[in-house]
Amino acid sequence: MTEISYEKLLDKISRTSGLEKEEIERRIEAKRAKLSGLISKEGAAQVVASELGFAFDKEKIKIDELVSGMRKANTIAKIIKIFPPRTFSKNGKEGKVANMIVADETSNIKVVLWDVNHIELIEKGEIGEEKTVEIVNATMRGNELHLGSFSELKLSKEELNEVKRDKAFREKEISEFKLSDNASTRAFIVQVFEMKEFNVCPECRKKVVLEGDQYLCVEHGKVSPEKRNLMNVVIDDGTETMRTVMFHDVLQSLAHSKEDLLGKEMIFSGDVRLNKFFNTPEFIVESVKEPDVDEVLKSLEEKE
Ligand SMILES: [Zn+2]
Repeated sequence: MTEISYEKLLDKISRTSGLEKEEIERRIEAKRAKLSGLISKEGAAQVVASELGFAFDKEKIKIDELVSGMRKANTIAKIIKIFPPRTFSKNGKEGKVANMIVADETSNIKVVLWDVNHIELIEKGEIGEEKTVEIVNATMRGNELHLGSFSELKLSKEELNEVKRDKAFREKEISEFKLSDNASTRAFIVQVFEMKEFNVCPECRKKVVLEGDQYLCVEHGKVSPEKRNLMNVVIDDGTETMRTVMFHDVLQSLAHSKEDLLGKEMIFSGDVRLNKFFNTPEFIVESVKEPDVDEVLKSLEEKE
């Protein structure tokens, strides 16, 4: 994407779609406003183009530029994880699906394969972990890149060395949070609840149950448990509030006492999951960070 200037991109979209450049720019700005300026002009232009049904021929998109709803997306990435294919039945028909995580230097993303030919490549070992692949004609559904029978998956000769393997959290406003998002947001803690203590298995860190005077792990049987803490807070980023859970390791990384947390502004990164008890989404925090004042000012300037 970086090799094409924004102006060239505008020209290209204008020529292909027949729309005036001004109209396209208006749509690009509207898209950026909707995404709170978290997307580059070029990225927004791609989304607009894709919404106009315009395929970028052989243009490759970086993973951090993939946006929900994007169609005909092409990218080159390294497979960093493959999950075993699963079978399912739908309307009496057997189907197969396989998931993998691919990465480039900007980010990583979950890829869902629906086509038996693509899944076969994995089953035969022709495509495997640490291989670089070219993905053509894929569709962004939520935070996942989906490949159907019109998509292509093939080995690429390109060398990708430094890829982003850490879990990628996308910057988002709370009002845009969806279930299973790995999101990151700058927000204030507006409510703090009592710290809770619970017991986990020392091997797998899963919750253990007390039976008589024995603690039992589903997987590891009788164990002597470790104590863990969790704390619920409510965060607010100005768009919405969100029930948020911080576990042991996150709490330990906080250099604040519970009283100090109220009103504190921080960057929270984590997963949006369904709280089965309340049947509402909640934010499971994996890391917190103090906002860097320079970065905040910069992002505010970019939004203007
Ligand atoms: Zn265990």
